[in-house]
Amino acid sequence: ICRLRESGAIDDLRCEFHAIESVNDQLAGVLRQIAQASYFKYYKVDLYKDCAFWNSNGHCVLRDCAVETEDEGFQPFQKCDYADTDFCVAQDDDSTEGVFVDLQKNPERFTGYTGETANIIWRSIYEENCFDIPLQLRRLQNDAGDSCQQPAHRLHEVNECKEKRVFYRVISGLHASISTHLCQEYFNVTTQEWSPNLECFMSRVGRFPERLENIYFNYAILLRSVFKLQKYLTDSTYCIGNPEEERWLKAKVEELVSVCLTLPETFDEKQMFTGPDAIVLKEEFKDRFRNVSRIMDCVGCEKCRLWGKLQTRGVATALKILFSYDNTELPIGFELDRGEVVSLINTLNQFSKSLSAISSFHRMYHQQHHSL
Ligand code: FAD
Repeated sequence: ICRLRESGAIDDLRCEFHAIESVNDQLAGVLRQIAQASYFKYYKVDLYKDCAFWNSNGHCVLRDCAVETEDEGFQPFQKCDYADTDFCVAQDDDSTEGVFVDLQKNPERFTGYTGETANIIWRSIYEENCFDIPLQLRRLQNDAGDSCQQPAHRLHEVNECKEKRVFYRVISGLHASISTHLCQEYFNVTTQEWSPNLECFMSRVGRFPERLENIYFNYAILLRSVFKLQKYLTDSTYCIGNPEEERWLKAKVEELVSVCLTLPETFDEKQMFTGPDAIVLKEEFKDRFRNVSRIMDCVGCEKCRLWGKLQTRGVATALKILFSYDNTELPIGFELDRGEVVSLINTLNQFSKSLSAISSFHRMYHQQHHSL
């Protein structure tokens, strides 16, 4: 399917959907196991930062918006690596702000967060893509009498540079992945049960081939970054304080990396930031991405904020890995903190779950339509 569209929107991605799906079949099991390990399931996050952009007092009081946090002072294990952050706003386990959250106890799923407050967040995030809008789009917007109101749906239609299109696709893919999770674990008020909701999925993702592609696109970016990080991941010590679990986890991470080594090349980051304005564009890309991570502080639903922040950081970490050095050896001075590695692996796991959910929705759709 990718190949069919290669002349168009998806030319950044050398892939085939089926190839990515079969990769996911190999990776899903080990990824789920790694995400359950205490090193990866405890994530420190400041859920109560002030929103820097507007007065966000419309907090969600719905039961399923709540996050179950660990007690203050909880320390799940010894400290490991420290470093500054690049694409994302600084945040690490040492920070006095924030609490540990057990991600396994707080899955990303339907919360009931909806309406204008949720829409404003998505609109603001897409508007971050408004940097240096091409003239053609400006004219379109002026004609329509709005200034950058609907870039999400139009940017890709304009002859855009690759970097900006990648930015849009990353955001749209994250949005589609979140939608997939909330439809996969949807709360049915009639039966009072959590179950997949096919109509929810079709109306938000399934009927939009581009949104589906963008989920695959993010998965490919994340995989590529894990591939590049292979040596760091296999050389790292996962200090948990329990040697048996540390050995088990190291073996699982080695298994994950060994599958990644067999993958076809999915995303070629070397094609990005190569033109005459590469340095300026890269800085702008980073700034815009940092802003997306700040916008997440304005999300009015705790659970959505938790996963929004984590996944923005995960993608930011992948981009940092892809665009900061060339080969699979980390350059001297390039470091990652635990939060970055934890967010990267959990974000890959979330996208992997989205791919699994897409396959299962696909089967449900065919069963329903063949039985009619
Ligand atoms: P929205 O999903 O709010 O979309 C708004 C508009 O954006 C759509 O009308 C469409 O035109 C466009 N659009 C939609 N998807 C895409 C796409 N993939 N690419 C490009 N354009 C698109 N709700 C939960 O139940 N659980 C969660 O965990 C959760 N996490 C969230 C995290 C964040 C950061 C935010 C901002 C919201 C979250 N929500 C969550 C709310 C959820 O994403 C929706 O906003 C909500 O369900 C209302 O949906 P909607 O139908 O109004 O469309």
